Amino acid sequence: MMLPRAVLRTAARLRPRSSGGFVAGALALGSLGLPGLPLGTLPRARHVLLLAPHPDDESIGCGGTVARWTAARTRVSFLLVSDGEASIGPVLPTRTIATRRRREAGIAAARLGLPAPIALGLPDGHLADHVPDIARAIRRIATEDRPDLVLTPWALERHADHRAVTRAVAAALPDHEHVWGYEAHTPIPQPSHVIDVTATLAAKHAALRAHVTAAQAFDLQAAIDLARWRSLATRGGTGAAEAFLVLPARDLDALLTVGDRMWDPASADRPSGDHTHPDDVPGDRAPGRDAPGRGLPRRRHGRSTVRGPQRPIDRTTPIDPTTQGESPA
Ligand SMILES: [Zn+2]
Repeated sequence: MMLPRAVLRTAARLRPRSSGGFVAGALALGSLGLPGLPLGTLPRARHVLLLAPHPDDESIGCGGTVARWTAARTRVSFLLVSDGEASIGPVLPTRTIATRRRREAGIAAARLGLPAPIALGLPDGHLADHVPDIARAIRRIATEDRPDLVLTPWALERHADHRAVTRAVAAALPDHEHVWGYEAHTPIPQPSHVIDVTATLAAKHAALRAHVTAAQAFDLQAAIDLARWRSLATRGGTGAAEAFLVLPARDLDALLTVGDRMWDPASADRPSGDHTHPDDVPGDRAPGRDAPGRGLPRRRHGRSTVRGPQRPIDRTTPIDPTTQGESPA
């Protein structure tokens, strides 16, 4: 599916402006005008590449769909970009949070039928500074496995880390035709695909329950409620579904630019690699991390003082969930 030229033109018009991105971006999105919804059809795939900026995004955004693919013996590679160590504030040492969340991601993956994640350990909240690193990791996997489709947060996600990962997809695989954008924190106003996940809702729920640490900041049950609501389009609200905006990679940059305007206008004009983290912008209202940290101390993560457990890309660390303790969920 091609992104209509009206969207590309609108995105191009937004580029030189410094404000007003939200309304213009919303108008651009509304101009998508996709005809109808191909409901409930899960395409056959030999190999799927799943990208999660943080532990839990995969379960929230596409856990039910992924479980359908794994049940159909589709091979899925799971690239976990950060350990989500900025999720719950400074209530625990950063390394402790990272270790817990990475382990929980492994448990969730197993519950979805996925292999252990390939964990990059890049710094939560600062993924926009690491787009080339993420792209390199994507390229390495894609060169070896040649995925039929790629799952990544859709391009207008509010979280800057989510857009950074999708930007890396566009950079790494510019000719890929099937990039499935899933909704993790920002709903897709007009999905191109709604996949029925009634049969795998229990697996999605189980995966969400594995994210015990994230649940200190989020009520992950909300993802189940959204899936039930999405089934209005598939089963009259009696089942569960997940929504996607599927685009060729070449159309992602225009929409990502709209996303930058909408959610992070202060840094949208800066060159790539010089995006100030939302938390560093006084008065910025954008969420700087996965979790709002309900009732928890606000974590200050200016880039000079707090870093995640960063490690070289070539030392990726698959997790063996069978060796990890079961979460109490
Ligand atoms: Zn996330």
